[in-house]
Amino acid sequence: SVTSDRRSTFLGTGIYRFEGSNTVFIDPVRVLNRSYTRFRVSPSAYYSRFFQSKSPTGDSRVPNNSRKRKRKEKKTHTLNLREQAADERHQKVKALLLEAHGSFLGARDLLALMETLSGGDEFSGKEWLQNVEQSFVEHGSVWQAPLYEITLNYNQDDKPTHDGGSPCVNYSEQRVLPVFSNLVVNEAGSDVEAELLNNKYIIPKESGFFMSDLGQIHNLIPAVSDCGFNLIVIDPPWENSSAYQKMKYPTLPNRYLLSLPLKQFVHAKGALVALWVTNREKLRVFVEKELFPAWGVKYEATLYWLKVKADGSLISELDLFHHRPYECLLIGYCDGDIAYSKCLSRLRPVLHDQVFISVPGDYSRKPPVGELLWEYAPGPKPPRCLELFAREMIAGWTSWGNEPLRFQDSRYFLRG
Ligand code: SAM
Repeated sequence: SVTSDRRSTFLGTGIYRFEGSNTVFIDPVRVLNRSYTRFRVSPSAYYSRFFQSKSPTGDSRVPNNSRKRKRKEKKTHTLNLREQAADERHQKVKALLLEAHGSFLGARDLLALMETLSGGDEFSGKEWLQNVEQSFVEHGSVWQAPLYEITLNYNQDDKPTHDGGSPCVNYSEQRVLPVFSNLVVNEAGSDVEAELLNNKYIIPKESGFFMSDLGQIHNLIPAVSDCGFNLIVIDPPWENSSAYQKMKYPTLPNRYLLSLPLKQFVHAKGALVALWVTNREKLRVFVEKELFPAWGVKYEATLYWLKVKADGSLISELDLFHHRPYECLLIGYCDGDIAYSKCLSRLRPVLHDQVFISVPGDYSRKPPVGELLWEYAPGPKPPRCLELFAREMIAGWTSWGNEPLRFQDSRYFLRG
């Protein structure tokens, strides 16, 4: 039946499409696992936040009711002009989000699978991991940074699935490469284990990373625009007043983002650009009025990520002003070389108002929605994909940021 087809598609891909609606449910763990052959992402490590841990320590960041109540009480002040504008935006999408959530709650087959998402493997290493995890940001900023090397340990039977016409790559068992400000690629059709500073990292099949500060990003610019990227996802470290956010990673003032040479990464036939933004009105105005124009990106659509708990309810009330249960992904197009710019008009228009639903992972990870955008990217298929400010790697993607190996630590993975 249709329902069991949808269910088995979901179990195989991690993506569940609701009939007659622009809503998609995503299980990030299943989506990510398609990048791996020998390893898989530990569901309980990914989801430790919204699936109640059996350990008494638990996660102190799970919003508890008393904190929620405080937030609600604070909301009674009158809104200033900017807040009013934000509220207007919110009122406009509310119906759409409620409808999406309604379709989700109506899909009983899917709801029945929710509890199984966390896998049942008890991820015990979390606290230990937090203490001993490498700080790539620190390592990358010392004078020895250029000396740090990563060792990729290939199996002898690993072969590239395609050599893309490039000179034959010779797969010796080990490859040792500088880890900072260097494009490290695994062209093989299987994941490889890598060693760096006494830790192990799992590098997905057909993927690459370039680890550097924004100051060195120009070293990743492709030499010819035919080798540029036609799908670019960006999740900048927006400045935020929350002290908790500041603790997790360094943030960047908006003016630095204006100087990001986005255009130079764009494929000759143009690119679809997807930018994660917070719900702050000031930021939305900055992106629409300054950042997109500076990058040469034409705004197309806004997509929404609606966050639910394991029981299917929203992670917070829809109307909670400073703690909305959704985030926005702004979609735009960037032209490539003039000769090709006509191609853009032949594109399928981006589905406006699409809603992605998922249970948030820990460390405010974004769900891997990149492949849902594939079909809208101009130029070559499968698209050449770039993620900027990435903390993880995905097959078919190049990940750039100052810690793209962050979630590749082997302790987030299970074998087989
Ligand atoms: N999309 C990611 C995820 O889901 O895990 C989250 C990205 S987070 C919002 C922003 C990232 O940008 C952090 O990893 C942070 O360390 C990195 N970052 C901050 N300042 C940077 C800089 N100057 N150069 C490069 N990366 C930077």
